[in-house]
Amino acid sequence: MARYTGPVCKLCRREGQKLFLKGTKCYTEKCPIERRNYAPGQHGQAQARRRKASDYAQQLREKQKVKRIYGVSERYFKNLFEHAARQAGVTGENLLVALESRLDNIVYRMGFGASRRQARQLVRHGHVQVNGRTVNIPSYAVRPGDEVKVAPKSKDILPVQAALEAKTRPDVVRWLAVDAETRTGRMLERPGRADIPLAVQEQLIVELYSK
Ligand code: SF4
Repeated sequence: MARYTGPVCKLCRREGQKLFLKGTKCYTEKCPIERRNYAPGQHGQAQARRRKASDYAQQLREKQKVKRIYGVSERYFKNLFEHAARQAGVTGENLLVALESRLDNIVYRMGFGASRRQARQLVRHGHVQVNGRTVNIPSYAVRPGDEVKVAPKSKDILPVQAALEAKTRPDVVRWLAVDAETRTGRMLERPGRADIPLAVQEQLIVELYSK
């Protein structure tokens, strides 16, 4: 399935919560979910009034939510899940750690992109280097110790500057070190579940794929 390129605010409204897909706008009163917190479409309001969702519906929504937060396709997500299930440890946590280690997510978490979408574009356009070499693959898995930086020629491009100067940008997570001045960061360690600031119930995704 191709990557979704439609209006992202609809995705938040469908999931009934802010997924922060649009960068700085998500922190203002312009966020559509503040005014219309029901699913988009003709039957959106009616759906909100219906009885409690089934177990399957809850599991499905949780999976869709995580997929949409990270902006990945169904096939990629399923493959990543299968890989996570083969690893030692808790499958749900392995899945989230693998998603968090994606280069586009790391660029976003370091504050060089205002959203994961923008960070993905920075990577695709060759503005990001890992250990001194340009990497233009958003799904590239960053490992502890890796240095991620904005390429010298792109240090002062507008999206990077705006993202770093945004007053509403989230705090940098504990497992990353960032020097905004030099546009450089490093992954200090592999995060644990407690280090991933994401309000999702990954166990529901495991249950969904285990059926
Ligand atoms: Fe979601 Fe951001 Fe749009 Fe609000 S502004 S609905 S948080 S993408």
